Amino acid sequence: METYATALLYATPFFLGLVLFEIGYGHFVKNQKHNVMDTVSSLSSGLTNVVKDSLGLGIILVSYPFLLEHLALTEIKATWLVWVIAFVVLDFAGYWNHRLSHHINFFWNQHVIHHSSEEFNLACALRQPVSNLLGYFALLLIPAALLGVPHEVIAVLAPIHLFAQFWYHTQHIGKMGWLEYVIVTPSQHRVHHAINAEYIDKNLGQILCIWDRMFGTFQEELDEVPPQYGVLKPAQTWNPIVINFQHIWRLIQDAWRTNNYWDKFRIWFMPTGWRPSDVKEKYPVQIIEDVYNFRKYKPDASNALKGYSIFQLIVTTAMMLFMFYNYSDIGFDGLLLFGAFVFCGVYGFTTLMDRAKYAVWIEVLRGLAGLLVIFMTNDWFGLHAYWSTGNYFVAFYFVITIFGGIYFTYFEKSYVAPKLVS
Ligand SMILES: [Zn+2]
Ligand SMILES: [Zn+2]
Repeated sequence: METYATALLYATPFFLGLVLFEIGYGHFVKNQKHNVMDTVSSLSSGLTNVVKDSLGLGIILVSYPFLLEHLALTEIKATWLVWVIAFVVLDFAGYWNHRLSHHINFFWNQHVIHHSSEEFNLACALRQPVSNLLGYFALLLIPAALLGVPHEVIAVLAPIHLFAQFWYHTQHIGKMGWLEYVIVTPSQHRVHHAINAEYIDKNLGQILCIWDRMFGTFQEELDEVPPQYGVLKPAQTWNPIVINFQHIWRLIQDAWRTNNYWDKFRIWFMPTGWRPSDVKEKYPVQIIEDVYNFRKYKPDASNALKGYSIFQLIVTTAMMLFMFYNYSDIGFDGLLLFGAFVFCGVYGFTTLMDRAKYAVWIEVLRGLAGLLVIFMTNDWFGLHAYWSTGNYFVAFYFVITIFGGIYFTYFEKSYVAPKLVS
């Protein structure tokens, strides 16, 4: 986990730099594909995901080393060939895992966050789950285990394979000639994120697009069908933690409410979106029907609130980087508490962005909790050793958080119903 934290220490500024580059480029060519609140929400989602992953929270049902030990029929030497084989097997497994996530109710919950943005840009790539609490992916790596691909090879390739899926989340790159036949390109992935009937659940490949072509899920981007982004049941919130559990909450409610016992059991394994007929009738859920004329989520936001959200995002990111930097010194209990601060931070300021009245309680409470930690330890998780006055700045940040929460809830122009624009 410590190695992963170190990798993230470098990867985070790299990805953020590329997001800023795309924003600058969009501004320069007068074709901006970002809007402040959506991008802040996407990046906050990325923060929650990496914090959760760095803490190793979740239950691993099957691990790759375990499968390797019990299944390996042969042992491949770590030559260049093993890297190629491992990459292809990993990408094949990724395709099927992605397909599973799209098609089965239970698995869709952990992937919906990635599709929840109604924009499409590099920041969307960072909308990654915190609800993926069951580690079963190794099961899809059985072919690699049979061939005896060493664990180290998988451990090195897996994050590279994941990071290599970042670049194609952009609308600034058109079709890419012959590459369209080999790898997943921005054009193909725009189709993947679109909710148009022609496009939905297509192009599930991660790096190679050959799997989609082989298994019939390939769809080219068509000039006459401009992709419309989002999910059919809109998230209607900027809070990434809420988005992570919206779908499973609906499943729990449906399973509870239906009178049919068979439906209570099978709802989890049915195709995504399937609902028992009695609850479907009694508790209808809004689904986008006309993808060209739906209202995007856009609650009123003043420039002050936009600026304040960016400020909160920057401080939370800086805090998280410090957590990774000081990872081994903080200790596991400290890391859990630190992680909780990052989560409450994201929960608080994105709820404020939603203009929900209760946001003020989260902001005041987390502000007071932060001040309490500083007061009791006379430090902020070891920051004192690197920066003798750092505590005061962190304390000042928590004071701002308390006043920010109060100001945007009670003093700024009172909240009007979300102004939804298409
Ligand atoms: Zn997907
Ligand atoms: Zn994507």
